[in-house]
Amino acid sequence: MDTLQIENNRNKHHSRQRVCQNCGEYVTKQFVRVFGTNDGSLYGCMNCSTGRELRNGGGKRPSQ
Ligand SMILES: [Zn+2]
Repeated sequence: MDTLQIENNRNKHHSRQRVCQNCGEYVTKQFVRVFGTNDGSLYGCMNCSTGRELRNGGGKRPSQ
């Protein structure tokens, strides 16, 4: 008895696309890891902030 069981168990690889919380620009995961908070939030990117602001922690908190 051969029963072909087609496992249709496709795990949808949900690659979470990160976005800048400030302007909505797509950023890479690595970018968030470097400039964002530990829980993956990012409040500034190269689109809405300068590299200098980001290095000073501008991506870790909402700009007000
Ligand atoms: Zn941004």
